[in-house]
Amino acid sequence: MSDTPRKRLLGPEDAGPLDERIVSPEDTLEDEVYGASLRPRTFDDYVGQERVVENLRIAIDAATRRGEPLDHVLLYGPPGLGKTTLGALIARALGANFRPTSGPTLEKPKDLVGILTTLEEGDVLFIDEIHRLGRVVEEFLYPAMEDFQIDFIVDRGAFAKTIKLPLKRFTLVGATTRAGMLTAPLRERFGIVHHMDYYAIHELERIVTRSASVLEVPIEPEGAGTIARRSRGTPRIANRLLRRVRDYAQVRASGRITAQVAADALAREGVDELGLDRLDRAFLRTLIEQYGGGPAGIAAIAASLTEDAETLEDVVEPYLLKAGLVIRTASGRKATPDAYRHLGLESGARGPAQDPLF
Ligand code: ADP
Repeated sequence: MSDTPRKRLLGPEDAGPLDERIVSPEDTLEDEVYGASLRPRTFDDYVGQERVVENLRIAIDAATRRGEPLDHVLLYGPPGLGKTTLGALIARALGANFRPTSGPTLEKPKDLVGILTTLEEGDVLFIDEIHRLGRVVEEFLYPAMEDFQIDFIVDRGAFAKTIKLPLKRFTLVGATTRAGMLTAPLRERFGIVHHMDYYAIHELERIVTRSASVLEVPIEPEGAGTIARRSRGTPRIANRLLRRVRDYAQVRASGRITAQVAADALAREGVDELGLDRLDRAFLRTLIEQYGGGPAGIAAIAASLTEDAETLEDVVEPYLLKAGLVIRTASGRKATPDAYRHLGLESGARGPAQDPLF
C-alpha cells in the first residue's frame, strides 16, 4: 500500500473506486468528521472485546495503585475494530493525556524525539500502524520504552560518545493490522499484547443502537439488525452504514429506521445482505464464471477485473475468506458452495446470474 493517507469524503456515487468503498474498513475523512461523536467515551460504552477490556482494566487499576505507568500495550487486528478508541479510553482511565500519532508520519528520529520529549508523566503515546515505523526511528524507541531515555550519539570515531536524555515515564500503545510485520525486538518490549477480533452481530447491533441514540434517530431493533449483519464485523463500517441509512430514512421514509428502510437504503448503496459490495461480487463472479469456481491465482483474477492484485488481497479477499465464500488452496483461490448460493448460481454452472444489485 502507498504511504499517502487515503482519506476521502464518501458520496453515494462513489461505490466504485476501491479506496472509496462504503464497506472499506479504513478510516475516511467522513468518519473523522462525522464519526467523532460516536466514539465511546468510557469503557462501559465500549461494546464487546470483553477479555481485552477486562485485562486492561485490571492492569490499569494495578498500575494506578502502585503509582507506576501502565506497561506498554500492543493491540493488533483488522482496521476499524476500535484500537484507537481503546487507546484513548486507556488514557482517560489513567487520567493522562492521549497523544496520537502514526508510524508513517514519524519519518525521522527527530519527529519521534520531538514528541517523546514533550510527554508528561504517565501520558499515553499512541502509535497507529506501528509496523510502518522506519528502522532508525524504531531503534530510538527501544531505550525510550525500556529505560525512559533516548540515546544520542555525538561526534564520530574515537570521540563518539552517547548522551542520554531522560524522558518522563509514559505508556506506549501501539496498534497494528499486521503483527507479523513487527520486528521481534519491538514486539518484545510490549508487556501487554492483545488481539482484537471481528465483532459478533449482536455486538454490532448494540453499537448501531447506541450510535442511533447519539445521532437522535429512531431505530427499530430489526433495523439495527439489518445494518449489523451488513457491517462485516466492523464497528467503523456499522457506523458509516448507519449514517447512510439515516439520510435515506430522513429523505425517503418517515425518519424512522425499520428493517425495510435499512435494507432499501443499503441496496441502493450496492451493499447486499452479507455486506458485500459490487467489487466483492465482481470478484466472486469472475472466479466462478471465468475460472469455473477456481482454483485461480490472484494475479489472474486481478487481470480479469483490471484491478491491482495486491489491493485485492488487502481489501477484498480478507472478508470473503472470513465469510467463508472463498478458500485459499495451494493452487489458488476457490469459490465455496456458499459463494454460488449467494450469487444465486448453481454450483458448477456458468452463465448469467440474477443479481438485482448489479
Ligand atoms: P481502529 O483504530 O481499530 O481502526 P477505531 O478505534 O478508530 O478503530 O474505531 C472506529 C470507530 O468504530 C470508532 O470511531 C468508534 O465510533 C467505533 N467503535 C470501535 N470499537 C467500538 C466498540 N467496541 N464499541 C463501540 N464503538 C466502537
